[in-house]
Amino acid sequence: MSRESLSERVLALRAQREAAHRRRRIRMVTRRDGVRCVVDGRELLNFCSNDYLCLSQHPHMIAAMRDAADEGAGSTGSHLVCGHGAQHSALEAELADWLQAPRALLFGSGYMANLAVVQALLGAGDVCVQDKLNHASLIDAARLAGCTLKRYPHNDADAAERQLAAHPDGAALLASDGVFSMDGDVAPLRALAAIARDRQATLYIDDAHAVGVLGNVGRGSIDAAGLDADDVPLRLVTFGKALGSAGAAVVGDADLIAHLAEAARPYLYTTALPPAQAAATRAAVRIAQAGDDLRECLRINIERLKTGAQARGLALLASDTPIQPLLVGRDADALAMSEALEAQGYWVAAIRPPTVPEGSARLRITLSAAHDARQVDGLLDALSRACDAVTA
Ligand SMILES: *Cc1c(COP(=O)(O)O)cnc(C)c1O
Repeated sequence: MSRESLSERVLALRAQREAAHRRRRIRMVTRRDGVRCVVDGRELLNFCSNDYLCLSQHPHMIAAMRDAADEGAGSTGSHLVCGHGAQHSALEAELADWLQAPRALLFGSGYMANLAVVQALLGAGDVCVQDKLNHASLIDAARLAGCTLKRYPHNDADAAERQLAAHPDGAALLASDGVFSMDGDVAPLRALAAIARDRQATLYIDDAHAVGVLGNVGRGSIDAAGLDADDVPLRLVTFGKALGSAGAAVVGDADLIAHLAEAARPYLYTTALPPAQAAATRAAVRIAQAGDDLRECLRINIERLKTGAQARGLALLASDTPIQPLLVGRDADALAMSEALEAQGYWVAAIRPPTVPEGSARLRITLSAAHDARQVDGLLDALSRACDAVTA
């Protein structure tokens, strides 16, 4: 045996990715004004961000952040030592109030919150049953927890029930995205809630893409399905998507959350969000809660894109959310389409494996309340031309 050089290994891996059209590139955004942005020096219309309500540049959020920044740029410690301030506390109370749940607990990011929930609640002898298309952080979370991980075919609630039935011992967590991040469809939440109840499993919904967008006053997919905090004891809310901020919270049952606050390593061993970030998020919660007009703009854009795509013979995946993917298949074709769109002034990311299953590379088109009808129509025409160019 001889030691393998990591430098040589990564060079080989990068060459492989290049050959397979799987290289990833970091793009630099130098100016942003709503959906208009300058990317690597070129002005593009953004159809790939998660800023669904266009809150990230909302003047109230920016003002809230600026005002709170007078308290200092950082939180100076973890929540359990000295980092937890009045802004954090108020944000937790306001989230719990908005989402009609007993308690909310802040995290540095959704990724960390998912690691925290599964790692703090499950261990060897327990089972985590998950949708195959769940966000990567939920999969990683189960691996970190050391529990048994079972993944059921996408949105197949019967398969989830069979997997729970096959693991009758130990504790069980049934985890699903509320809205699937790369497909835009919604989980069968009512069926999952019934199964969790029958099988004494705890239901955990990652609502990153639904909070602010779906449900009454933007409460998310759980509310939209006619369910509440009793049906779904734990849910993830991320601040970096429709709320236009950064960070996350786990919202739900007071006892489960109290345990996370005492035992979840991704809560204990990390610095609390800057107070100004919490303040900006508080403003976002207020705007999102009162944001029926924004949600109506978004709905109109979604309808316009779907109708226009149908008229042009562009087969979007079935979705009623702001995530409207166009399935392409081959990685190279998805990349070529994305480049053809960019040449016409539209920014749509090509999503390739391992983010999505093999052979299902796609353009992940996302809409925001700030797009206008002309921009949506322009994208549709550009998509048609890009399709023709790539399939020609
Ligand atoms: C973005 C996302 C996360 C991670 O949230 P961050 O705050 O960005 O770390 C988790 N789950 C889903 C479904 C997401 O889309």
